Amino acid sequence: MRIVLLGAPGSGKGTQAKKLMDAQGVPQISTGDLLRAAVAAGSALGRRAKAAMDAGELVADDIVIGMIRERLKEPDTDPGFILDGFPRSTAQAAALDEMLEALGQPLDKAVLINVAFDNLVKRLTGRRTCTACGQMYNVYFSPPKVPGICDRCKHDDLAHRADDNEATISNRLQVYQDQTEPLVSYYRDQDKLATVDGEGEPEAIYARINEALSQ
Ligand code: ADP
Ligand code: ZN
Repeated sequence: MRIVLLGAPGSGKGTQAKKLMDAQGVPQISTGDLLRAAVAAGSALGRRAKAAMDAGELVADDIVIGMIRERLKEPDTDPGFILDGFPRSTAQAAALDEMLEALGQPLDKAVLINVAFDNLVKRLTGRRTCTACGQMYNVYFSPPKVPGICDRCKHDDLAHRADDNEATISNRLQVYQDQTEPLVSYYRDQDKLATVDGEGEPEAIYARINEALSQ
């Protein structure tokens, strides 16, 4: 199974990619996670990426395309992969098609997770992650039982991601509209687009994605 998850920031791509990964036994490949790891490690690549990420802009195509090219060489991707957050521009999508063509392993589907604009803002501003165990919360939709305390490990530091502040969020949504939304017609033209309603419980959305993938 070789698929791309498409959707705005806050549409739940990461949550759904993890579920698919567990069920299908194929890796989730998130350029956001790979970039945050590079920033945390302080590598040259991370230093180049950080300013763009903090501003909510796209990191340069050559960086993310190079990262994906390397990642797809790992043997765990032989049975397939779930791309989450890549491609994010038509240049990236074309580069991906070229790579997969060379491997003789074209993409099966691009699944668009649709969420209304107003909900995206709330999902993003409410998002918190436990700095100790990585458990995710949303103060509006799925708060911890005791405010500020992780249900899972009782740690008392639930943090915002660096780019989940109001100014950066509105820029990320604008960048999505300008640069990533064109991929919807890109994949529709290839007859690979499936669209699912991204509102509601994660489990319900997951069921819709599986339904779309089985068609
Ligand atoms: P979200 O989808 O919630 O914005 P991500 O973790 O996917 O979060 O991405 C965080 C940031 O990392 C983006 O705002 C952007 O700066 C950078 N990034 C991630 N993927 C890409 C990509 N494919 N191309 C360019 N920049 C990217
Ligand atoms: Zn925790």
